[in-house]
Amino acid sequence: MSEVRYSGVRESRPNRFNDLGTTGREAEEQFKKGCLKRADRSFAQGLQCQQINSMAALMSLEDSVFISHSPQGCVGCAIMAVDMYRVGQIHRGIKQVKNPRLLVTNIDQKSVVFGGEEKLRAAVKKAVERYHPKLAFIYASCASGIIGDDIDAIAADLQTEYPDTIMVPIHCEGFKSKICASGFDAAFLSINKYILKKQSVPKEKGLVNLFAPTTVSYADQREMERMLSLLGAKVNYIPFYSSLEKIKRIPAAEASTSICKVFADEFMKTLWEDYEIPYSHTVMPIGIRNTDKWYRGIAKVLGKEEEVEKIIAKEHERIEPLVAELKSRLQGIRVFICGGTGRSFAAAALIDDFGMKLVGLETPTYDADAQVDIEYLNEIHKDYVVDIANMQPFEQVNLVNKLKPDAFIGVPDWAAKLGIPTTHVLDGKRSTMGYDGLLYLGNKIADQLQNPGFNKKLAKHVKLPYRDSWYEEDAFKYIL
Ligand code: SF4
Repeated sequence: MSEVRYSGVRESRPNRFNDLGTTGREAEEQFKKGCLKRADRSFAQGLQCQQINSMAALMSLEDSVFISHSPQGCVGCAIMAVDMYRVGQIHRGIKQVKNPRLLVTNIDQKSVVFGGEEKLRAAVKKAVERYHPKLAFIYASCASGIIGDDIDAIAADLQTEYPDTIMVPIHCEGFKSKICASGFDAAFLSINKYILKKQSVPKEKGLVNLFAPTTVSYADQREMERMLSLLGAKVNYIPFYSSLEKIKRIPAAEASTSICKVFADEFMKTLWEDYEIPYSHTVMPIGIRNTDKWYRGIAKVLGKEEEVEKIIAKEHERIEPLVAELKSRLQGIRVFICGGTGRSFAAAALIDDFGMKLVGLETPTYDADAQVDIEYLNEIHKDYVVDIANMQPFEQVNLVNKLKPDAFIGVPDWAAKLGIPTTHVLDGKRSTMGYDGLLYLGNKIADQLQNPGFNKKLAKHVKLPYRDSWYEEDAFKYIL
């Protein structure tokens, strides 16, 4: 019987839910009883699409070109990843800041009728001849998937014509999944298939693959590397600010771990199946408890359990007095959190370090991993609302308006317009992780609370586009 391989579509795993409005307690109990159902919304605003995650994950790779076989609009969201890439270069001391080499084939009505393969072929040729890259990533889109353009065949064909560039087609058609993290999986599946190809390489003692998404700041990268180096590990930081050479070193590692819970978790399973690389999959290292848990997880895989306890004790001695100071500024503050699956659960654990209370949590997916987090959160926070939503700001503003939190942590655009002090936990430019990151983040939240003037003025002058009657409705009325 042939082996069943993971498809890259997160919904293909059992017990994963995208649309849910409930409380922390209910979510835990219903999941345990197997009573959560895959729902849908009868009205929904735009979702984040998986194609952008496939692009953003790889956009900072050296010597690469990125060809999106799509209409122009599909690459609109790339602006955030481009910004992160540019700022990330400055933080890394790069003087001549570059843009990623991103081309779009501009599928239009004519291509939909007559096929877009010639456009794709021309775009790849142009990109390779202009930039002579080591890697050419070719991204599918909804449109290319619907019209059936064979991006694999074109990549294979051009591979013979351009042997010095590795062609990597990526199947990240937006309609395949409502869970945007599927885009990370699509990118890693292609890296495994077209670059690693199950080739065996000599093992490197102490080498650890550290998988990190685009949104991890340079400060966080250094903190994670510092912590791993205290365990005697050498870090292969992948794929952010990485290269073909570093990707090829992945199978040489002794162990793998990821900074985010939903980034490379599936890929680390594949690395275990194909290359027997053990891995640690725990939590995002934000806050004391999660940082300890993350650190112990990778130390266990490396057989450094005793060493890590000594380091953790020393770190706690260093940071606990500073955390106590922050607690005196933040105790009792009621918080609403909105973010990706890794960061939102981690932030909900972090606020407990400062004595803050969770009143609402919005995050894109609920599954067995989330259940582990919710069980812990239910021990430390009481009576909070859970909104499982990929975007859907209309639900968020309804909830925030009713719950009236003192602070909002996460994607701030809408809560800021309601006049709530906001802090962005998805901060790709500053510290948020590890023992140093939690101090920085705590200070940032406290400063925002002391200086709420900007959001207050914003709320006076900007009106959100919803009728007053919407704020009276049940926020979850469209989830069926
Ligand atoms: S790939 Fe599909 S879902 Fe993604 S931006 Fe393009 S049209 Fe939208």
